[in-house]
Amino acid sequence: MVRSTSPRFCPRVHGSVHESTVLSTSPRFCPRVHGSVHESTVLSTSPRFCPRVHDSVHESTILSTSPRFVTCPADVSSTCTTSPHARPHERTRICTLRKMDTRALRNPYSDYDGNPASTQSLFDTQGRLTPEFSQRLSSKINELMSVMENGLGSADPRDCTTYTGWTGIALLYLHLHKVFGDSSFLHKAYEHVSHALQSMTRRRDVTFLCGDSGPLAVAAVLYHRLQRPQEADDCINRLMQYHEAVVKGSGTLPDELLYGRVGFLYSLLFINQQFGQDKIPLDYIQQICEAVIVSGDHQSRRFRVQNQTPLMFEWYQEHYVGAAHGLSGIYYYLMQPGMVSSVEQLHRVVKPSVDYVCALKLPSGNYPPCVGDDRDLLVHWCHGSPGVVYMLLQAYKVFGGAGYLEAALQCGDVVWRYGLLKKGYGLCHGAAGNAYTFLALHRHTGDPKHLFRACMFADWCMNYGRHGCRTPDTPFSLFEGMAGTIYFLADLLQPMRAKFPAFEV
Ligand SMILES: [Zn+2]
Repeated sequence: MVRSTSPRFCPRVHGSVHESTVLSTSPRFCPRVHGSVHESTVLSTSPRFCPRVHDSVHESTILSTSPRFVTCPADVSSTCTTSPHARPHERTRICTLRKMDTRALRNPYSDYDGNPASTQSLFDTQGRLTPEFSQRLSSKINELMSVMENGLGSADPRDCTTYTGWTGIALLYLHLHKVFGDSSFLHKAYEHVSHALQSMTRRRDVTFLCGDSGPLAVAAVLYHRLQRPQEADDCINRLMQYHEAVVKGSGTLPDELLYGRVGFLYSLLFINQQFGQDKIPLDYIQQICEAVIVSGDHQSRRFRVQNQTPLMFEWYQEHYVGAAHGLSGIYYYLMQPGMVSSVEQLHRVVKPSVDYVCALKLPSGNYPPCVGDDRDLLVHWCHGSPGVVYMLLQAYKVFGGAGYLEAALQCGDVVWRYGLLKKGYGLCHGAAGNAYTFLALHRHTGDPKHLFRACMFADWCMNYGRHGCRTPDTPFSLFEGMAGTIYFLADLLQPMRAKFPAFEV
């Protein structure tokens, strides 16, 4: 039995890792794991015990006081499927053999061959889906909706979040209302977001995905669609009460998407976009971006990397690269129109920081989870090319330069090859989330190859549950489970309008 009270337990989790005490009976242990948690006995002193772990943690060893254990996921041993009690040299030898393809199932589809005949059953030359393929998507959406609605009966009633909780389900219904125009979806959304509003985190977390601004922003948009402006404004006023604290920061508030400043920023962008007007004045949005830049500048100096990158961001003692926790997710927002008030600052500060991320590209075209970690393992929206691609496409749009586009296209190739994950069909680390890479590339390039690839990933998702993938902890949720798969299938019906939910602007 291993007992750890280490404060730095598993750095690659979304939640607080400093608050838990963990007791395990399993040698293959990580408490914040989707897969192996059932093998463990976990005691936590914290009610905020984060279930949202990413891949690299799932097979990790515990950070123990024992010298036989090497530190958690950043260490190469953490990726071993063998017992963490194995000797370090054995772990290293085994792990050098591990590659991305151990995380993915073989892609069984033939790639786009340039022949229009290969796509004519899927979409026309304008990229409009054929009635037959649309019908197939719609009936699968109906089928999965019914499974999801039944399954939600066993979901955690207290989880208000967009990521795994009731706001995520409400967001799915809002999306279905937009796609299908059926008002019954609005009523379903109302039911779920009302539930979420009753169980908010009470300012512990502030982001759209994992905090209180998610339920408030989704509720505001829902009331707007229901033509109840007073209630919509009430929600926005409540949301804006967090603004000052987000700008000032508490000293522990990070900048990343899931738990940090840009995660709150997204809530404001979501409201403006959905209302079709600047309900939140641009000044408020720019103040958050300015705070992010000040924080990044400070961290770049603190870590003495200012010669390499004007900005740097840390989360749990790691410099993450991906969309969920890392640099690329933050820079994606800083490059949106109007976010950084000065064009000079955009070129002087943001562009070289983006270029720093570009230089981290691995030989395969994928990106590492953290700076200084050259393992080529994770092809997820949260870590790896399926998340970094959005930064690259935005950089191409804003700064030009064929290099950004070329790197984005390489992301597409990586995802095509290694993106059908054993972890399932979800958004955060699953096939549906990875398929958004192709939709983004299609929207930017118009190349039917990418739409074809998205359709093939949709075909995979429509065979939900038939590939022996793992079942996530929250199997019906938006970011880990079936709700996310449904969201993607519905987005594919209008491919040029598709956007990765709770992230893409
Ligand atoms: Zn993930």
